Formats: sequence, C-alpha cells, structure tokens
Amino acid sequence: MRLKGPGISGRGGYEPLCLGCTEPVSSEQKCSSCQWPLCGRQCENNLHSKYECDIFTKNLVKELKDPFQYELLRILRCLLTRERDPPMFEELMKLETASEHRILLESQSKAVETALIFINQNCKLLEYDIELIDRMCGVVELHSQVTGMYRTTMGIYSFTSKLMYACAANTRLVEVKGSNKFDSKFRIIVVKPINKGEHLTFNLMETLVPGYIRTRFLKEYYYECDCELCADPTEKGTYFSAIKCASCNQFSKEPGDKPKVIENGYLISDTVQDLSSNWKCMNCDNFADGESILRLLDQIDDEYQLFRRQLPSKSLDENLCQLTSKIRMYHDNFHPNHFFNWRLNYLYMTLLVDYVHSLKYPDTWESLRHVFDQIEEIIHPLISTLLTLKPGATLAKGKILYDAVRALWCFIQWAVIFGNAQSFDKHQDAKYFYALAAETIGILQFEITATDQKLISQIYYMKNNKTNIFERLKHHSVIAERKEIPST
Ligand SMILES: [Zn+2]
Ligand SMILES: [Zn+2]
Ligand SMILES: [Zn+2]
Ligand SMILES: [Zn+2]
Repeated sequence: MRLKGPGISGRGGYEPLCLGCTEPVSSEQKCSSCQWPLCGRQCENNLHSKYECDIFTKNLVKELKDPFQYELLRILRCLLTRERDPPMFEELMKLETASEHRILLESQSKAVETALIFINQNCKLLEYDIELIDRMCGVVELHSQVTGMYRTTMGIYSFTSKLMYACAANTRLVEVKGSNKFDSKFRIIVVKPINKGEHLTFNLMETLVPGYIRTRFLKEYYYECDCELCADPTEKGTYFSAIKCASCNQFSKEPGDKPKVIENGYLISDTVQDLSSNWKCMNCDNFADGESILRLLDQIDDEYQLFRRQLPSKSLDENLCQLTSKIRMYHDNFHPNHFFNWRLNYLYMTLLVDYVHSLKYPDTWESLRHVFDQIEEIIHPLISTLLTLKPGATLAKGKILYDAVRALWCFIQWAVIFGNAQSFDKHQDAKYFYALAAETIGILQFEITATDQKLISQIYYMKNNKTNIFERLKHHSVIAERKEIPST
C-alpha cells in the first residue's frame, strides 16, 4: 500500500508542483476549485480531489508558495486516511515515528507546531489532536521516499517501511515503473540467500562507506544501527576505516634500513555509534580523539570530491598521475583496505578500463598486457573487500563486474589481433566473458535508472559486436598505409 504526494522541487527553491500527479507546473496552472497548483482538468479527479481539494476550497486555504507546503500537504493526507482510507490509516499507525527523539529537537517541535496551525486553524480540522499530528509528522519525515520521473514525488510505502534496517542488507529496494509514467512502486530484490525466519533487511545508503559516515547519516533518521557491520570495530576484519598509528609505524633512522612496519598498528574506533569516542591503536597505547580524526577524514573526503569534479577537465594521463600520487599518500596514512584506498583504486580501475577502450592501436602486446594485468590486480581485491562487507548481488558488485566485462571484451579482441587466438569465441577467456556478462546483466537488470539501463545496453552491444576493434584496425591500417607512402 502506498500514499503519495508532491515532494521537493528539483530546483531547490519553491516550484509549483501539481497536487494531482506531482509533475512541475507553471504558476498559471491552478485547480479550478481550490486554486492550488494543478496541471489541468485531468488531475482534478485523483488524489487531490480524494483528499484536500474540498477542504481547501471550503476554508479558503491559500497556496503558501513555500516548499514546506508539500510536506504539510502530505501530513494532511496521512491524517485524512483515517476517514477516507481506513486500511491505509491502519498501516500508517504501525510505522515508527521516533517521537521521543524528535521532541528534543527545536526544528522538529517547530515543524509540528506549524503542522498544528495548518491543520487546526487553516484547514479547520479540529478533530485531529496534537498527538496524532505529531505522529503523522514523524511518519512523513521518516518514511517518505523520493520517486518518479521528475524526482518530485514522495511516497510512503507501507511494506518497505516495515523492513528492518541493516548496513549489509539481504535485499535491495528497486524502484519500478507503475501503470503510468507518474506511478512507481518498489520491488524488493533478494541479494543473498535468506534462511527461514531471518528478517528481511534493507539499507538506505547506496555506496560502501565507512562506519562513521553511516552513523552520521542514520542519526538524521534517529537511528542507531547495531547490525553485524556496525557492531564490529574491525568491520568484519576488513579494517575498512582503520588509520595507521603514527607511534607504531615509524621509519627507521638508520639509512638503508627498511621502515619499521607494525602489522597491527592501526587506530580504530571501538564504538562506531559514538562519533566522539577515542580511536585506539590495536597494538600500542596510542589513541586520538574521534572528533579530530573525523575532521581530518572530512577534509580528505572534500579533497577527493574536488578531484572527482575536476576529472573531466583534465587528460587521462594527468588524472592517472594525480591518482597515483594520492594512492601513495593514502598508503602512508591508512590501512590498505581503507575505504579511501578502496574508492581510489575503484576510480583508478575504471580510468584504466576507459584508457584501454580509447586505444586506437597499442605499441606492443606486452604494453597492453601490462595494463590488463594492472586492471586484474585491482579488480580482485576490490571485489573481495566488497563481498566481505556487502555479500551478495549488490549494485556495487554489478558495477565492478561491468568494468571487468568491459576490460575482458577488449582484452580478447586485442589477443585475437596480436595472434594469441583465432577468433573471439575461441579465446580461452571467451566463456568467462559470457558468464561475467550474464551475471552483470542479472544484477543490473532490476534497476531502472538511465545509467544502469545504459550499462546493460553496452553489455549487450559487447556481446553482439565482437569485431569492434577489427573495424578500428581496418581504419588504422588505411592510415598506416597512407603514412608509409611518402616515407618509401
Ligand atoms: Zn497533474
Ligand atoms: Zn483543488
Ligand atoms: Zn549498521
Ligand atoms: Zn600504535
């Protein structure tokens, strides 16, 4: 069951959204009865008329021209389900509202106060008391999911809202198109085997991120996660957030001596839920306070985001060169598995795959082989860390496999050209290529975002076009011949 309404404007500030279908509309498009934004007559006969239109009309409730009006509208719809859709009301009443946490926040009490004025005074609906209004404020705040073509729809999905939260979840939620272009539903995809009686779990964070970032994010939902990942300071033995201890890992003063490296000399936080707690060394008595560590990590993260934004403006060589120096810097400061290292290696790998795809003609098979070896060397640890932290057919796995498929596709073609195989299908890795492509499609096929659709169509292209490089090569040999004429 789901209850929907207009959500947030795509442009940041106030933007009129149709109260019927939630599509952005112009400021002239209004409901002929209540004068709130509505795209046309076709939308007068749906959720808008079922819920608020008569109330707005009768009590002359005016459009507020503030993005917050849509939140108020969705709170109003939740309340109105009591009389207008009792089964939905029953479902909403079962949802977590975190009232005991929200009451402590000034911003939240203000929001409830505003909702109270809107419902009791503007809409003159005195039958809803503060307790129920507060409850629905919590429901709307905690359970609204952005959906739809324009990302301006917000819906409360009663079933998915009841799933348990876990950072390494056993399902993933995938938005699928409903009966019309404005309608969407959530499909729950199981990503790993689930035993009978085991809870279905989902997560809200798209990427693989270290505990402190997850904790911060979940605090916005008043949630303290104690899943198997959050409960384990070593993050399942991956040390995904571990920082090198400066006291343990010291360089020897004697010239020519190897640096003194202590294997367990890493600082980790033993309670990931408490962001200010000390990070302690696993090997010595050294420790650092959580807040200063997080400041440092935030700074490094900002630098990385800046670097990412600047990627398109620089040449591939420049980017690879800068990445290599960053990797070296990270290597001196973090555990080899650290999220920052993982993320950099992932980026490095995708750039190498792009590079291989952009090649017109490599100098030698050996030089090409060297790049493929590098790609392979990175992909394996990337996948194995990923699977330790997030086992199963997750989206992240699908994206890494996609790059592996792209690399393999090129590798086999060049191998044929350099005489290591007769044809694509006869190459020893061809079977592996097809298996990997099938697995990647298997994972990505449930996603409906434009990017994922593009990835899938590219894999189909690769499967069906095994002569792409041969074509390029034909072109190349023509150029080579032309060049050779003046020199002979
Ligand atoms: Zn509409
Ligand atoms: Zn109306
Ligand atoms: Zn967790
Ligand atoms: Zn130490």
